[in-house]
Amino acid sequence: YPTGMLAVDPEEVVRMHTSSGTTGRPTAIFHTRQDIENWAEIMARCLAMAGATSKDIFQNMTGYGLFTGGLGLHYGAERLGMWTIPAGAGNTARQIMLMKDFHVTVIHATPSYAMHIAERMLSEGEDPKTLGLKIGVLGAEPYTEEMRLKLQDIYGFKVFNSYGLSEMNGPGVAFECTYQNGMHVWEDSYIVEIIDPNTLEPCKPGEVGELVMTTLRRTAQPIIRYRTRDLTRIIPGECPCGRKHARLDRMIGRSDDMLIVRGVNVFPSQIEEVLMKHEWVGGNYVIHLTTIGAMDEMAVKVEISKTAFDGSIETLRKLRDQLQRQLREQVGFNVHVEVMEPGSLPASEGKAKRVIDERERR
Ligand code: AMP
Ligand code: ZN
Repeated sequence: YPTGMLAVDPEEVVRMHTSSGTTGRPTAIFHTRQDIENWAEIMARCLAMAGATSKDIFQNMTGYGLFTGGLGLHYGAERLGMWTIPAGAGNTARQIMLMKDFHVTVIHATPSYAMHIAERMLSEGEDPKTLGLKIGVLGAEPYTEEMRLKLQDIYGFKVFNSYGLSEMNGPGVAFECTYQNGMHVWEDSYIVEIIDPNTLEPCKPGEVGELVMTTLRRTAQPIIRYRTRDLTRIIPGECPCGRKHARLDRMIGRSDDMLIVRGVNVFPSQIEEVLMKHEWVGGNYVIHLTTIGAMDEMAVKVEISKTAFDGSIETLRKLRDQLQRQLREQVGFNVHVEVMEPGSLPASEGKAKRVIDERERR
């Protein structure tokens, strides 16, 4: 970081993205014109594989900017010739209005956001089916088959799982065909391997392990045998669609401690970094993840330090407000902070359990 992985003359770079992982020191990813064209091409292939055509109207509901989900899908959709609406992330009322007014047929969002929109519509007495959507491209975060079925049922569309990571371009790496039985990897662009994350030996065919990827077409920043930390398997056998490219199963988790909250990668260490920088904060804290409605919620319980605590509610409130602001800046979404008196959280004997993940698996 920042440019040590750049493999071409800086003059050839036309675009840069970063992984959503860290805000302090993200992984910077560079693209030449050729890289952008190749990326758009494989992204367009994904959309075509799901059945989208130039007659479709596409609303892209993920963030434009350093995150690859916005521009990645955008260029692919334009390449396919779709009428592309760069709605960006958030502003649910506007998303619904755009879908209605422009008769959108294909959307791209995180599964949790798609569910959030549906719940908003239902709570306002509207039926998401009346939108007339055909295809939901949902990815960037893990979700279950049950969640897919639920979303398909609510919207009356077909949901296609979309997998990618910034280091391999972003979205467009692996995508489902109309059989919806695993994500075809574009093997003309990537070599896939599955390894045991502990021994680093290759897994047996069909066995779950860590996905390792090598780029074949990237020029600005080729990467050999990148350990994605994502756990999955290659589905044995051939797909009835006739495509020969290997299929990845749904990601079942990660081999490291990274959390994916609302599609954003968050390391517990990022939270700790903010907390521990504050002079009033004590040593003990817990990150609590839950599901409220369809959305991930992150709450941080933290103790104020004995020395800073003067016994006033006002002091606790002040610290809470400051931490909420700083954590928001760090991770990009609202984090609920609860500041507690010294000694309120259970002290650990040995390794502390910092993360309590009580999110519903849908
Ligand atoms: P980033 O490079 O910051 O966009 O994050 C990439 C990471 O997001 C991947 O390594 C996965 O952990 C996660 N991810 C992306 N797409 C999916 C998906 N369809 N299912 C599960 N996890 C995903
Ligand atoms: Zn197929």
